[in-house]
This record gives sequence, structure tokens and C-alpha cells, in this order.
Amino acid sequence: MNKFLLFAVSLILALPTLAQDSAQRHFDGNSWWEHVKFLADDKLEGRETGSEGLRQAEAYVVDQLRKAGLRPAGTDGYYQAVKFQSRQIIEKDSSATLIRNGKAEPLVLGDDTYFNTRVDLAPTVEAPLVFVGYGLSIPEKNYDDFAGLDLKGKVAVLLTGSPKEIPGALASHYQSSRQRWQALQKAGAIGMIGIPNPAAMDIPWSRISLNRAHPNMGLAGAQFDETAGEQLSLTFNPERAEKLFAGSGHTFAEIAELGKNRQPLPHFPLAASIKAVAKMEKTEVVSANVVAALPGSDPKLKNEYVALSAHVDHVGIGEAVDGDRIYNGAMDNASGASVLLDVAASLQRSKEKMKRSVLFVFVTGEEKGLLGSKYFTANPTVNLNSMIADINIDMFLPIIPLKVLTVYGLAESDLGERAREVALAQGIAVQPDPEPLRNSFIRSDQYNFILHGIPALAMGVGFDPESSEQKKIFKDWLTDRYHAPSDDVTQPVDLSAAAEYEEIIRGLMVEVADDEQRPQWKAESFFRRYGAGE
Ligand SMILES: [Zn+2]
Repeated sequence: MNKFLLFAVSLILALPTLAQDSAQRHFDGNSWWEHVKFLADDKLEGRETGSEGLRQAEAYVVDQLRKAGLRPAGTDGYYQAVKFQSRQIIEKDSSATLIRNGKAEPLVLGDDTYFNTRVDLAPTVEAPLVFVGYGLSIPEKNYDDFAGLDLKGKVAVLLTGSPKEIPGALASHYQSSRQRWQALQKAGAIGMIGIPNPAAMDIPWSRISLNRAHPNMGLAGAQFDETAGEQLSLTFNPERAEKLFAGSGHTFAEIAELGKNRQPLPHFPLAASIKAVAKMEKTEVVSANVVAALPGSDPKLKNEYVALSAHVDHVGIGEAVDGDRIYNGAMDNASGASVLLDVAASLQRSKEKMKRSVLFVFVTGEEKGLLGSKYFTANPTVNLNSMIADINIDMFLPIIPLKVLTVYGLAESDLGERAREVALAQGIAVQPDPEPLRNSFIRSDQYNFILHGIPALAMGVGFDPESSEQKKIFKDWLTDRYHAPSDDVTQPVDLSAAAEYEEIIRGLMVEVADDEQRPQWKAESFFRRYGAGE
């Protein structure tokens, strides 16, 4: 049993009446499940950004918000339009080839590698390859994978992940596509080949590569292009990665073994070049964020907002798995959007008057790279500085009873302590991210709020890292259902875990909205640098 659970158990034993008395119940899980069932229904076709299915999902959200009496807070009623450029690779006109000793070794797209269309790829690239370890440059830790390497005009090959000495949040931040490309570009590289770390792969390669020809998107407008100048981006199958290393004096097996334990990695030129031809089809797509407000009661503080955010979009219709082509996204993230609807309705109904206003932000384009939230935080519908915190919900996974809550960003701001207090009052313990290698802190929409200086948290139903049984339930969920058609409403969920989770979210919103003190980044938090005036 880990120490967090021990703490929870002793607290429950010591304070049974407090835990029960303070747990005023506002949710039973049933209304939540009704919303999930609507949003994840086959007829919404997986809520792809820009699709009719997502439009219907958002119309439902707007209808619920209106019925509940929430105030529109978009630019066009509840809506805020967002424009995208959609990019799709035409594989039959594209190719990738290794050139070794003057000999061409064609790669099989899908099996060996695939093009990453989040990047606006150049039509052709030919360049030598250099292995750059984790490919990270982290000045605050004096860590630089590029020191002494000649990368000018070359393509960097890297293993995703980070060395042990780099704390989770920092490692996550520097692996974001923006930071990653900034470092590579500064080192002179023209592109990258990323090999997913086999020790931290959520889903197997066969499923990762399955939907590679599915359209990707970027926000329309050059100001949003974070990978400008990146000519090539490939993801390489770790099981086929030995071909990259052949003749280099190193093997991928050796690299993977080191990477598994977050050991330092060597850096060296590879014995091959890459030649790539990428044919892309580009179209314009329009979608929207949905924003609603619940006005606060304090004459002054009501001009400040606590944001509660969740993405409504998912990945739409894709390649069939077991005969099913609709990627319903019930947990990812109909589940989170439904919590927002429940909490909005509950707070509106309740007698308690909160001092600050609450902003409910349903974003689009999360699956395309956190794009709806990126647009919203760059073009907020309320004053940016008036948003004092963001609590984001994405795939909180009520698939086991809620005994421990995982809080992403727990140690970064005092929101962490507030979340801990609210959870403990319900007899639920809190733990930091037990799997920092998965980069969860930057993998959802809270990250865009953070980049604009707004303290933020994300939370999910946690498993006891010491319990192999619970660990397996989560691992299996990721392997089998994450971004698969089986993330649908026929899967088993724990309604009471969902209800308890909603209770914590509601409690935290009230707590933060009522506290005279604005949430603050911790002095030692890396993310403090994005705070206003710093
Ligand atoms: Zn997702």
C-alpha cells in the first residue's frame, strides 16, 4: 500500500463523521451518464473537429446550458468560431527511404514509420540522420542533448522520454511540439524522427499507425504555427527501429533498455540518410468552442472567473477495429464535458452564492493538438487576466471506485492544496501523477491556460500504483479502448466514482471562486515563469 492510501485510510478511520457530514451529495452519476450517452452515441459519429457530429454535440451542450440558465459567454451567443487548416497525407504519392552506403532501403509506411501531419511537411527532404538521445535542451537543469553535435541541415532521431534527473512537469514541457522544435531548430536540424519509448506507449503500434492517414489540423493563421520551418516529422515503429541504427556501432535494443529506466543516452551520427516525399492535401475547416458563465455575487470579485474546461471533440470515424469504425470517445471526453454540464446546472440551481464568476469552457480541436484551447486562450472571450484558475477535465476514467484522486500539477500551485483539502473532506486521498513518463500534464487543454500564466490542474480517478490489479485495469483500458472504437457506452463504468468525482470538482470550484486569495504558482514551480508580470 502506498503512503497516500495509508494517509487516506487513517483519515477515514479517525474522522468518519467529518467525512460523511461534509459530503453533501449533489450528484448520483445518472445525469452524468445520460449526457455521456447522448454525446458518445453512434449518431454523433465520434465528434470529429469540423464535423456535423461535433456540431450536434455542441448544439446539445448549448441547449443544456440554456435550459440550466447559464449565461452565454462566447462571441456569438455561446459559440466562439475557430478556423483550422486540415492536412491529410496522400500515402500512395508519398514515400520514405533510408539511404545507406549509397543503397536505397525503402520503408513501409504504416509498418516502419508514418508521416506526422501536425507539421506542415515539405514536399521532399533528403538529409543525414543523427541520434540525439532524448532530444531535449533544458537550460534550468543544465541539460543539453545537442551539445557538441553537428545537426546543421540534418534530421534528428530521438527516443521519446527524459532522463531521471528531469522532474516530470519540466520533462513534459520540453517535450511539447513547440519547445521540441525550438530546440531542434536552434541546433540546426530540419526535421525529426521520433521513436516512441516502448516503456511508455499507451497503445500498441498497430493502433497508433492505423489512423495515420486521418486528417490532422492546425489553427488557421501563421501566428499559431509552432513548427514553422520543420520540413520532416516521422514517427518510427520501435519494433523496426534497428534499421535506423544498423552500422552505427549501437543497437536500438541498447537504447531502449537505457530509455526504459530513464538512463542517460549516447549521441552519435547514424550510418544512414533519410529521403522523404510527402504529398499533402489541405482544406479549410470551421468549428467552435462553447463558453458559458455563471455570474458571481461579489461586486468586485464577480469580474474574475474560475474556468472549468473540457474538450467535446474526439477523433471521428476511422479505420475499423473489430468491425466498428465509430470512435465514440465516451471517456475521451464525453465524460468530461458531461461533468461540466452537471456542475454548471448544480451550481446554478444551488442557493450558495459564489463571489467570483465561473466560466464553463467546452473546447474543440483538442485531439488535433489542444487547438481549441489554444485559440481560446489567445482570443479569450473574457479578459485574460480575469481568469484566475483553470480546472480541466479530460478522460478522468471512473472505471474503478474513487479512493485516490490523481492530480496533475499537484505541486505546481496552491490549487494542489485546495484540491487535496476538498478531496480529503470527502475521505478521498490525493496523489501526484504516478506515471510522469506519459506527459499527462501537457497532454490536455489546461496546458494552454498554463502558458498564459493561469494556474491550472487536471484530475482523474487514480489507481494505487502498488496494486497490480488496479494498474492492470488502467493499462488494459489504454491498450484496448484509448482512441479505439470500444471507448463507447457499452463499456463498464462506475457511476458512484463519477458522482464522487463531480462532487470534488464542484467543491473545488466553490472553494476557489469564494477565496479572496487568487491561486498562486509555487515559488519553485517551473510554470510560474508564464505568470502575469513575471
Ligand atoms: Zn484523446
